[in-house]
Amino acid sequence: MSLRSIDEVLHQRGHWIDGRLSPSSGQDIAVENPASEQVIGQVADGDAADVDRAVRAAHDALPAWRESTLDERLALLTRLCDVLDEDCPQLAAIITAEVGAPAAIAGPAHVGFTTGILRAFVELARDFSFTATAGSATVFYEPIGVAGCITPWNLPLILIAQKLGAALVTACTTVFKPSELTPFSALRLAECMAEAGYPPGVFNVVTGYGPSTGEALVRHPLVRKVSFTGSTRAGRRVGALAADGVKRVSLELGGKSANLVLPDGDLAQAVATGSQQACFNAGQSCIAWSRLLVPAERLAEATDLAADALGGMRVGDPADPGTDVGPLVSAQAAERVRGYIASGIEQGARVAVGGPERPADLPRGHFVRPTVLTDVRPDMTVAQEEIFGPVLCVIPYRDEDEAVVIANGTPYGLHGAVWSRDEQHALAVARRLETGMVNVNGYGFDPLAPFGGYKQSGVGREMGVDGLHEFLEAKAVQCYSTR
Ligand code: NAD
Repeated sequence: MSLRSIDEVLHQRGHWIDGRLSPSSGQDIAVENPASEQVIGQVADGDAADVDRAVRAAHDALPAWRESTLDERLALLTRLCDVLDEDCPQLAAIITAEVGAPAAIAGPAHVGFTTGILRAFVELARDFSFTATAGSATVFYEPIGVAGCITPWNLPLILIAQKLGAALVTACTTVFKPSELTPFSALRLAECMAEAGYPPGVFNVVTGYGPSTGEALVRHPLVRKVSFTGSTRAGRRVGALAADGVKRVSLELGGKSANLVLPDGDLAQAVATGSQQACFNAGQSCIAWSRLLVPAERLAEATDLAADALGGMRVGDPADPGTDVGPLVSAQAAERVRGYIASGIEQGARVAVGGPERPADLPRGHFVRPTVLTDVRPDMTVAQEEIFGPVLCVIPYRDEDEAVVIANGTPYGLHGAVWSRDEQHALAVARRLETGMVNVNGYGFDPLAPFGGYKQSGVGREMGVDGLHEFLEAKAVQCYSTR
């Protein structure tokens, strides 16, 4: 492969436009390694002119890309997955450096899920019918055009893949704006796409901040589809701007998911699985089961199990293969999470393990102690707001109806779990949850299924057939006899 060295990637100071690096006239943004607090590289802070060049490249690439056959597009996407597999060690090293994700998950999860998602789009599109009949009409599902895609820092490649896979198989072209905290994985992906043979302009990357670069992308008149993943706060703004331009928009936003253990559920398994799930990526996951709901009479038992699980996690250098929990992405993120732990204590929660203090043996880096807060009431701030760190709130309930009310009692509705030895009963409870995804008696992620949230967790779906429709327009054609 002719990909550049990691050092070159970290010091390129340019955007990826029309199949190559394109210098920016803007200022540089210094990117930090959250474990060492050292600057690892610089990227450009894109301005409106940079965004315009990228969108025009995507727009110019559209006609030829739309003419490609589905088979050609699927072959290219399969080739891209092979290139990504080959580049996995480099991509994983970049993700460990920019996100602070432990090496144990950077390759298998961050990069592995990325290719898993892209391969799922190959499978989905192969079976998808781009033409349908509706009454007397033939419906043609056609690419919507240029998609402007904005992604956060927590799972930088995976969240690009959820949009990119759909865009590529539906023959849309794209401009991505990755998070200013984690831009390098996206720029590396751009090189991998060129290596795989994608035509210039199909995938473009403009780096920069949200309110400047991101908003310029959302506002650009040639962008027909806006696909945003990030906080509910920024999503609200992006949604409003997209509405102003009457653009199709999908929003993948925050979560406050409940891991609901019914009285007959396997508590030990639920807490073991839920603790890992809640602390994956240092708890910086939109689908984290950050609330553990247990029968009141089993609160003490559940608290002990959770304290053992989180207390046993190894916090430290993400490059060390034995590390379970790395740093949070930034000083600001760590302060925010510590503030939430302190607010929980102030409002009457009890710390079963962890706490707001920085780990004593880690003087540098944005580390937070995996923390179990118990005796948490549903109205506490820690039970209502997304903490986005390794913090698990244990909340007791009296009966099943109250458990469902608590589970549904936040502004969010992204993910969740139900545990019961009676699977049919668990499914019935799952149907009562106002949330886009529910796991029953375990945890898994199926990229063929739709992904997205109810309420303030978002609008629209990614992945699955629903995810394809987000990038398609439906054209109904009716033919009448000329005789
Ligand atoms: P964020 O909203 O601060 O930033 C996300 C992206 O949006 C970044 O690229 C940022 O630069 C950009 N942005 C910020 N303000 C913008 C604006 N006004 N206009 C255009 N773009 C703007 O979120 P974050 O801190 O990077 O990510 C964490 C959040 O993302 C959490 O709330 C998490 O739950 C959510 N998230 C959701 C999903 C999902 O699929 N539902 C997945 C991962 C993360």
